[in-house]
Amino acid sequence: IVPAAKIPTEPSAWLGETQLDSLPNQFRIIEFHAPLLAAGDLQGFVRLGYRYPTFGLDMQQLPFFAAVSLPVFLLVPLFYFLLRREVRPVREASQELNRIMDEDNFRQVQIAATGELGDFMQRFNQFVEHAGARIESLQQDQKQLITSTKLLEYRKNRVETVLETLPEAVMILDESGAITFANQKLAALFNVSLQAILTQPPQQWCDNPDILQLLARHGKDGKGRNFTDTIRFNLHAAIDQAIVTKTYPLFSPNKPAAPIGTLIVFRDETQEALARQARSDFVAHLSHELKSPLNVLGMYSESLLSEAGKSEEFRVEAANVISEEVSRLSSLINGLLSMTQIETGSLTPDRSLVRLRDVATAAYDEARHSAGDRDFTFKFDAPKEMNPVYVDKDLIRIAITNLLSNAVKYNRDGGEVRLTIEETEDAVQVRVSDSGIGVSEEEAAKIFDKFYRSSDERVQSIGGHGLGLALTKQIIELHHGSLSLNHDRAEGAEFIINLWKDTTAMKQAI
Ligand code: ADP
Repeated sequence: IVPAAKIPTEPSAWLGETQLDSLPNQFRIIEFHAPLLAAGDLQGFVRLGYRYPTFGLDMQQLPFFAAVSLPVFLLVPLFYFLLRREVRPVREASQELNRIMDEDNFRQVQIAATGELGDFMQRFNQFVEHAGARIESLQQDQKQLITSTKLLEYRKNRVETVLETLPEAVMILDESGAITFANQKLAALFNVSLQAILTQPPQQWCDNPDILQLLARHGKDGKGRNFTDTIRFNLHAAIDQAIVTKTYPLFSPNKPAAPIGTLIVFRDETQEALARQARSDFVAHLSHELKSPLNVLGMYSESLLSEAGKSEEFRVEAANVISEEVSRLSSLINGLLSMTQIETGSLTPDRSLVRLRDVATAAYDEARHSAGDRDFTFKFDAPKEMNPVYVDKDLIRIAITNLLSNAVKYNRDGGEVRLTIEETEDAVQVRVSDSGIGVSEEEAAKIFDKFYRSSDERVQSIGGHGLGLALTKQIIELHHGSLSLNHDRAEGAEFIINLWKDTTAMKQAI
């Protein structure tokens, strides 16, 4: 404390610090001062002086620093060389690690070292050796894994190919009821993408309650898991499709008692159902067609035995009706027999080279004759000279006769019946046309079906079994030709038969 230093007189400055002037080359002195008060009166001051240390080298201390630095300078290289020697194994270890990383080769590593580092290096050598062995065994495992993955992939692909090739639509559910596989046929059946079937809940892509119920039955809490299930339903009610599903529980080959999922097969039995329907329709039609003439025959024969049968007039009428019904019956039975023979393949056409004009003329004359005294204009156009065609003449005559007989039956009074034959380069065309009631667009698709008859009153009032066109079509197709209806007519109907002249063209058609 510099005694001469003055305390500031201003009370507000009593508490504070003052830098004191000091002599040159001396320390800088700071004095802290604070008033001592008792009952508000100044009793004195506390004064505390301290100095700032000086920074920088003090010239007087230089010899001391020199004496300390000399051994340090001398020892540094020694330490350096010692350190380098001690650290060498670590450097070698680092080089070995670099080599291992570059070459990926865990060959045996031997790095010599002494002392504590010696222990460490021994452990390091062992570690590298152990790691090498481990990596080698892992690589072996990996190779085996890749091989078995490829094998599994191959087997999976094979199973999927088999499931894709199946004629049925199939889906596979896992134990929780989730769909894990579906083939393309299933996607086509439901008219959705495979992706949708595999990723979306069934309610999103299927609105059929039967299928939703079936899937629910095989879901997690479902009860139908271990049973074989068959349900029959129409998928799209509009087209009357009959789909039969069969479900088969799947079991693990290792644990036969543990179900691992369900296979559901969807079989489209629409064709079978249609065929069944067609068969029963056919039998119903046939029995009706057979019953009606038999009823008439029965009625007349009973009447002939009764009192009414004694009149000459009735006998003549009965004889006429009986003969008409018998000929109707025999034409029905003949038609049916021919059709059955063609359908079962037991009718082999007796082909020979035939002058089609002669066959057509015979059919034409028969049609004119059957028209009786009805008022029609008959026309027949055919080239005088024609190449012969290789056909069964009896069958072709039946075909032309059927068309001509329809042209007469469904014609109007005063109408025209025309038979035309034309020869083109590779076919002979037979056209039968009339100026009668014609065929509507709607009927055109059905007139070639067995037993189909138009519901038009004019057709219903005329006799027939609905077999003529079906049989004609079968005969022409048996000859690998074609029968079609000309849709471009303003009046009446025209049917066109095409018969191939050349056998190679015929073979191509086959
Ligand atoms: P059917 O003549 O015994 O009824 P078809 O098989 O010969 O049997 O003919 C089937 C149906 O085709 C006929 O019922 C009729 O409705 C229609 N059809 C056939 N030919 C003609 C024609 N020339 N004109 C109008 N309709 C015809």
